[in-house]
Amino acid sequence: MNGQTKKLMWGLGINDDDAEVIRRAAGDRFALSCFPAGVTPSVDQLEADEPCLLWISKQGWDFFQTLPSHATAHIDVSSRILIMGGEYDLAELESLLECGFTEIIKPPITEQRAREVLLSAVETQNLYQDIMHMTREICLEREMLERKNDMLSFLVSFLEKVTQHLNPAEILHAAQTELQTLLPVSAINAICWSPQVSKNVHATIYVAGSEKNDVARAWTEMLKAHAQRLLGDGVVSTDMEYMGNVTTDVLPSPDTLLAIDLEHGGATFGVVLVQCHRQPQLGKDQIQVLRSAISHLTLGLNNAMLYTAAQHNADIDGLTQLYNRRHFDARLIEEDTRHRRYGHSLCLLIADIDNFKQINDTHGHLAGDAVLKDLSRILETSLRTSDYIARFGGEEFAVLLPCTSASHAVMLAERIRNKIEEHNFATDKGILNATASIGVACIDLTREEPPVEIIRRADAALYRAKDEGKNQVHMLYPENGLLVSGGYTA
Ligand code: GH3
Ligand code: MG
Ligand code: MG
Repeated sequence: MNGQTKKLMWGLGINDDDAEVIRRAAGDRFALSCFPAGVTPSVDQLEADEPCLLWISKQGWDFFQTLPSHATAHIDVSSRILIMGGEYDLAELESLLECGFTEIIKPPITEQRAREVLLSAVETQNLYQDIMHMTREICLEREMLERKNDMLSFLVSFLEKVTQHLNPAEILHAAQTELQTLLPVSAINAICWSPQVSKNVHATIYVAGSEKNDVARAWTEMLKAHAQRLLGDGVVSTDMEYMGNVTTDVLPSPDTLLAIDLEHGGATFGVVLVQCHRQPQLGKDQIQVLRSAISHLTLGLNNAMLYTAAQHNADIDGLTQLYNRRHFDARLIEEDTRHRRYGHSLCLLIADIDNFKQINDTHGHLAGDAVLKDLSRILETSLRTSDYIARFGGEEFAVLLPCTSASHAVMLAERIRNKIEEHNFATDKGILNATASIGVACIDLTREEPPVEIIRRADAALYRAKDEGKNQVHMLYPENGLLVSGGYTA
């Protein structure tokens, strides 16, 4: 055994004879370094030597007792043996043991006694080291459990927040707030489309800010580029949803940007861009938690997009892409209430294609469908964005004109009638021509009446237009409680 691997012991204030006995008893696995009584080894010496055991004479110990406790605190190593002669009582013994001595031996020390004491001290020390080791492991384990617990709480809260809403903008806002405990998030923007389509995609862009904002424009461009990366030319149209509740002044910065492709059931349905204000420093377990958070977010957005699509399907007519009758009925009630509250005029047009059955019978249903679709676009391009268009029935369309006078509504109806008459409808059976009759009515602000009354009057005007030869506009307005035909004819 070479000197380098020897364990070092200190003798503090012990005499040369005792030191010699201890050296012999300890054998060549140990070395003994002695300090005379009245000398306190320094902290540096302690750190350099790392003594495994201290042999201290009573004289040496008495000297330490005279010093302030901070001056001797460092020599409080785990195994200390006191060499003390004379008689001592139990109380004295107990107080010495309380001072940290593991053994007390009487001089002169014999080799055998020194060996016994040394072996027991080494055993105590090994035990002490094992306990220290275990304690360290328990502390580490506890820290790890606490971290895991934090992460779990984060995930539970994140899952709760992102599945609480059915509106993607609200989900993104919740995700931004929640993710801030994990990442230095400064902005979240996204583009999403229905998970059920991959061609001719209509996507919605969710950005903070407003139309005229340069920051929103920069994000919009970046989101469109990401959608193109995923779908090629699949995106045919986009609409914007400006999120009012999130930060608006953060420009995209690619170095600290996290792009999350939204994927569910093998289909992509959007991209979420998470902007951080500095490079995130994540440990392995945090990355795992982030992955779980992302799958929660994906799930939440997937549900929201499916809900949006279902809501769209419930409100929109599949053939013409106009609002359906169900949606119209609800909208009429809303508009009627709003216009009556402010005393504004509200008009309704009901347009019915003339002899449509004949178009179907002569050219087939597909040609008829093409006419219905084309006519819907004529209506859309002839009206203001504040006007409301719905497919009322088979070949009947309803238009609500907010804050519009009766004479203006008749003028608009006439313009539409004329456009239809002049339009060349492109169908699979070639170009077709068609005409429509239009009934016009306004709400009667002079009396209380249910919202359906306006439908009844527009319908009656439409019948009058049909009766009088079709391809014309008629209006029926209430006068002194009586319905009188306006009789506007093209
Ligand atoms: P009028 O001039 O009196 O309005 O006569 P019309 O033939 O237009 O009216 P009628 O009510 O007799 O016929 C309406 C036709 O519209 C009957 C129906 O088959 C057809 N129709 C309803 N919905 C659709 C549709 O979605 N596609 C097609 N191609 N035809 C439809
Ligand atoms: Mg009809
Ligand atoms: Mg008809």
